[in-house]
Amino acid sequence: LLAASGSSGVASYHPVLDQQSLRRLQLGTELEQAMADGHISVVFQPIIDARSSDIVSVETLVRWAHPRYGAIPPDDFIHLAEQIGRIGPLTDHVLDLALARCRRWLDQDIALSVAVNLSARCLTEPDLVERVRRALRRHGVPGELLTLELTEGSVIDDTVRNSSVLADLHALGLRLSMDDFGTGYSSLSQLRQLPIDEVKIDKSFVLGMSTSQGESFIARSIIELAHNLGLRVVAEGVEDELTRNLLAEMGCDKLQGFLVSRPLPDERLESWLLARTGVRSAAPGATHRRL
Ligand code: C2E
Ligand code: MG
Ligand code: MG
Ligand code: MG
Repeated sequence: LLAASGSSGVASYHPVLDQQSLRRLQLGTELEQAMADGHISVVFQPIIDARSSDIVSVETLVRWAHPRYGAIPPDDFIHLAEQIGRIGPLTDHVLDLALARCRRWLDQDIALSVAVNLSARCLTEPDLVERVRRALRRHGVPGELLTLELTEGSVIDDTVRNSSVLADLHALGLRLSMDDFGTGYSSLSQLRQLPIDEVKIDKSFVLGMSTSQGESFIARSIIELAHNLGLRVVAEGVEDELTRNLLAEMGCDKLQGFLVSRPLPDERLESWLLARTGVRSAAPGATHRRL
């Protein structure tokens, strides 16, 4: 495919779209319809307390089941959605599914919190806070049961820092978590300046802990510094017992990873919870409990 070049008005042509870009463009046009058709769904990955092993939360992770391409991982289409200006609707869709799940637990007297990923791009949308507020109200879920994980710490730039968006989200009662901490430009000074409650140690460090002292040192440093700032720490990407024990010994608060559970579709999460806690969440008349 060829495209006219720039502003010179000279009829010179460059091939600007390779196969991958073409596929991206096409996916972009299909995203909206995919949401309407129910092809964009979510899975939930349990997060447990590092000491008690109690389940404390689930992270909502988006999935695209494409009729022709099969399963498209989020890393292949989140960035695209941002580029074409559709990350807002996508986020609303995921938030809706997460809060609906949370609501069904509440109806069964289970107060289990849900985490939803929020692209930094969304923080500059003027109506974000209102949309989150309306979603919570629509589902009747208290803000305390929602965590927003801020991805791409690098993009938390001055515009966001100087705006009240994070404080306004916080004022809804929800928790703010700094995702993928230790990568990119996310820094400890950001943690001090922003109303953040929690950091998630990026899995690139956690995955290396069982084999590399360097990675363990980084994890330990993040945990100590975050605790000194009064923040909770989650480790993502916990795949083996050694790493789990190291993190527990370092005082890490919460754990998430394949060792605990892979991300699960709704119905499989239900049986996972049952097997794990012995709590049948559908039990009528159960007392209100925090799992
Ligand atoms: P993330 O938020 O850091 O999510 C953790 C990722 O690590 C997930 O990948 C999860 O499946 C994977 N993971 C969890 N435990 C392990 C483990 O033990 N080992 C390994 N190797 N991987 C593990 P996933 O689902 O492919 O998501 C990738 C990224 O896409 C997420 O990283 C997040 O940044 C983004 N994402 C996912 N859902 C959404 C969404 O609804 N909105 C936005 N804006 N971003 C999303
Ligand atoms: Mg996340
Ligand atoms: Mg992460
Ligand atoms: Mg990540």
